[in-house]
Amino acid sequence: MRKKTHLGRRNFLKTSVFGMFGAGMATKTGWAQEKESTQEQSKEIKDKTQPKIKGYRILGRTGFKVSDLAIGYIQDEGLMSAMLDAGANYIDTAESYPGAHSTISKVIKGRDRKSLFITTKMLMEGDTSKEGLIKRVQKALQELDTEYVDCMMMHMPDKIEMLKNEAFHAAMQELKSEGRIRFVGVTHHGSFWLRGPEETMEKILLAAADDGRFDVFLFAYNFLKMDQSEKVLEACKEKNIGAVLMKSTPVFKYYVIKSRLEKLEKEGKDIHPLYKEGLKRYKDKFDKAEQFVKKYGLQNPDEIREAAIRFVLNNPLVNTVCCSLNTYDEMERILPLSGSKLSDWDKAKLAAYKESCGELYCRHACGLCEPRCPQGVPVNTIMRYFHYFTAQGREKEAMLQYAAIPGERADSCHECQGYCEEACHYNVPIQGMLLLAHNQLSMV
Ligand code: SF4
Ligand code: SF4
Repeated sequence: MRKKTHLGRRNFLKTSVFGMFGAGMATKTGWAQEKESTQEQSKEIKDKTQPKIKGYRILGRTGFKVSDLAIGYIQDEGLMSAMLDAGANYIDTAESYPGAHSTISKVIKGRDRKSLFITTKMLMEGDTSKEGLIKRVQKALQELDTEYVDCMMMHMPDKIEMLKNEAFHAAMQELKSEGRIRFVGVTHHGSFWLRGPEETMEKILLAAADDGRFDVFLFAYNFLKMDQSEKVLEACKEKNIGAVLMKSTPVFKYYVIKSRLEKLEKEGKDIHPLYKEGLKRYKDKFDKAEQFVKKYGLQNPDEIREAAIRFVLNNPLVNTVCCSLNTYDEMERILPLSGSKLSDWDKAKLAAYKESCGELYCRHACGLCEPRCPQGVPVNTIMRYFHYFTAQGREKEAMLQYAAIPGERADSCHECQGYCEEACHYNVPIQGMLLLAHNQLSMV
């Protein structure tokens, strides 16, 4: 069991409240002194016990010193605020994340704006005329309640030619000259079958590096998916482009799927045939994963998650890593990773995890199997939504995104020969996983 070495937020609040109660019995002057001293003590306890960001790195040509752990998708205002208090200073958001801009506006109120690096992103959909894009940025600024964003990113361009969209660059230039944005970036985590499966994350980001107008990249990189991303990291180094990571902890699905099955069984619920079919195909991988957990005495997936974050931070070409958090406990586990080193024990755990459970992970930004699917199912995109559901607590959003997929989803995978599975270089039991994803994302 992990030993708790610091106070959680609730315990910290209890400490403060207890101190205040005791102070109430003192005289008025004494009370004021007591209160002051209690607050001082509480602050000291908090400062000593709350983990802080220890590592900062220069974000490429922006020259900004960003915390090595960045604020990714966090819905809770208090949690985001606590991350900022701990020293995180990079905030990642997007026009398409429901309510995210207004959450950030509340959290940054009263803070030194110059000490923060706020990045948001726009999909190249809807009104993409120069005027339309400018209006969208102005709306984002209004929602964020800030004078400027540090970086405006093109969100998931489907094709290389989209990087050259002149309306986008003209809009960015104008907004830069008005001081409304400081830098321009691009983000990617995989091709979208219907729009161009041949244009992979690697090809698009390498083309963006050559284009020269993008100052920051946000992309997928983790210990199970290194090939494409390492070339992108090299390009970032060569062109002095800021390298921000996402999808760095590919480790949760096994536990989530397992606990869902146990819950259904415990409740005596009928397990849908699609789900059963998926699990059957998945079972031998599950068994291997179980052996891994037993062998390493792991209590929960956080232990691998922590090693996975240390792994990406160990790469000096990485500037910061976006962390999506749902709870204070998660935050308290993640903060001590800042500035820490990858240990031999971490390396051993990750290597063993890769060996035992690596085949349970459909690589973000891959899509190699998609051209083999006769139905045109966007495998990589569906598995990304499944990741949002199972690993990031974004259930509702993931289900809405799944429902909005144009064309084929994974409905018909159970009747197929599994061509995608045959084509997968990583031996992922993807047909079964698609069935599981379909079951969970559509709640059939
Ligand atoms: S199982 Fe068949 S239909 Fe489903 S994605 Fe794979 S190849 Fe396409
Ligand atoms: S199933 Fe395999 S080939 Fe297909 S996207 Fe996932 S990792 Fe890539």
